[in-house]
Amino acid sequence: MEANVRDSMTGGLRLGIMGGTFDPIHYGHLVAAETARIELELDNVLFIPAGNPPHKIDRIITDANLRFEMVEMSIRSNNNFKVSRMEIERTGPTYTIDTLRILKKTFSDQELYFITGTDALKEMLTWREPEEIIKLSKIVGVSRPGYDSRNVLSKIFKKYPFTKERIYQLEVPALAISSTDIRSRVFNQKSIRYLLPEEVRLFIKTNHLYQSK
Ligand code: NAP
Repeated sequence: MEANVRDSMTGGLRLGIMGGTFDPIHYGHLVAAETARIELELDNVLFIPAGNPPHKIDRIITDANLRFEMVEMSIRSNNNFKVSRMEIERTGPTYTIDTLRILKKTFSDQELYFITGTDALKEMLTWREPEEIIKLSKIVGVSRPGYDSRNVLSKIFKKYPFTKERIYQLEVPALAISSTDIRSRVFNQKSIRYLLPEEVRLFIKTNHLYQSK
């Protein structure tokens, strides 16, 4: 991983890892990361835009460099938020287990917390080496209030009982915002103002993103 990013995060006790495609990043993601940082007393949160998500081979996603830039401009004002290119620079499908192995080596004295949407965790048992993922890192599922996560989690707990101590659930009202809705709004020429940072909105406009399906 990038030396400047690594150096800015050494010395802490708990590191949050915000995994997502971020196509595009929005206020739901930012509030979720900040909520996790505060609730779980994380020293830093590292955003890792997914490179080539293995489960999205049949959907066109926005160029990784553009998604990275949108994350970078969104987190600039928060000293505890960092972003890494580690997944977007990897060739082939990017598996979470590979990312966590690298991070565990780099930050061997820190507890890792992998933060992602509870909806994404639904499929976690189909990911590569799910048991190893939960051993390497605690898991934080974030969802909007009222989201029924029992089904999602009970399958994981049933298969791997030790994970009960290692999976957290956080409700984040701002997660009513979703990237899918933002893409569809842009496509239908509806306003996306106030759903994401203004800089990102202008970036989407300038780069003509999400104008075709
Ligand atoms: P996704 O399937 O696009 O997302 C599912 C749901 O979760 C969506 O509602 C999404 O909302 C939400 N979500 C995703 N990331 C979020 C985040 N960080 N905070 C809040 N909500 C989030 O999921 P994805 O973005 O592609 O993947 C999520 C993470 O899981 C990534 O780090 C990815 O690499 C990892 N993953 C790994 C494997 C594997 O190792 N085999 C397979 C799948 C996913 P938005 O659309 O609004 O973000």
